[in-house]
Amino acid sequence: METAVARVERIIGNYEGKNQGKLFIVVAGMHGNETTGVIALQRIFGYLHDASPDFNGKFVGLSGNLEAIEQNQRFIHTDFNRIWAEDHVEKTKSLNIDALLTNEERQQKLLMSEIEEIATGYQPQDVVFVDLHNTSSSHGYFTFTFSGKTNLKIAAAIHVPTITGLQKTLSGTAIEYFSNRGFASVAFEGGQIDDETGIEVHEAGIWLLLEIAGCINRSDIPNYENCRQKLCEIAEDFPKLTDLIYVHHIEPKDNFKMMPGFKNFQPIEKGQLLGHDARGEVRAPKNGCILMPLYQQQGDEGFFIIKVIEH
Ligand SMILES: [Zn+2]
Repeated sequence: METAVARVERIIGNYEGKNQGKLFIVVAGMHGNETTGVIALQRIFGYLHDASPDFNGKFVGLSGNLEAIEQNQRFIHTDFNRIWAEDHVEKTKSLNIDALLTNEERQQKLLMSEIEEIATGYQPQDVVFVDLHNTSSSHGYFTFTFSGKTNLKIAAAIHVPTITGLQKTLSGTAIEYFSNRGFASVAFEGGQIDDETGIEVHEAGIWLLLEIAGCINRSDIPNYENCRQKLCEIAEDFPKLTDLIYVHHIEPKDNFKMMPGFKNFQPIEKGQLLGHDARGEVRAPKNGCILMPLYQQQGDEGFFIIKVIEH
């Protein structure tokens, strides 16, 4: 498999400039089988340490779910990107690690202690938090963020479609937790799982995010124009801004099966047959465009529906 990663450590890389600036945190492999971000970060830190460009602030790349990355699975016991409700995070922080029953709670405790140690040590004015993912369906290039000028400005810098409204329909994501802590927060979906293209897309996107955050000058980014063009090309046929309007939540006992062939951003009509489950047919409850149709075994959502706000 082209996107397989060898053993990973919690800290993928760390680069600090001479000048003060933002703390820029990127997490990859929050879902263990979504690894293009891990490889992209390894490449970026490799370049930074070789070329030593001027840098404002501190940039840290972290692995999300170490155990799941090692096993190349979305998760071990529970979806790691659905357990970031405030009270849940407080619980995993306060309990002893041996008292935490799931791998994902232990991963959360370890990841949080790393992030808090970094933030306490650096005392930044602003923090940017980026969470890298892949989709099980094709054409999965987009960002999730929240309304608010800084979030939207940062997300728009990568040119791929921006999706808002996550907090209305899906709770417990890491970006919502960190957004509530005052970090500018973006989840960046870099294409289909196991597709090598995602490595370049994630790499290009992170460079542009570092630039918009004021961490690095355009002239210090390797092949800046290629990065920009690559992202513009993959975004060409897709809307700029959309809002999430529906999430089809599922449980294992539902035995949900998505109809084959759906792609991200494909328009659908209310009543259209989208899949089957233990109760029978599953039809679209609304008009819109399909997002993240589920084409893998593990997952808590069968599909999402979005509404285009700006083309
Ligand atoms: Zn994911």
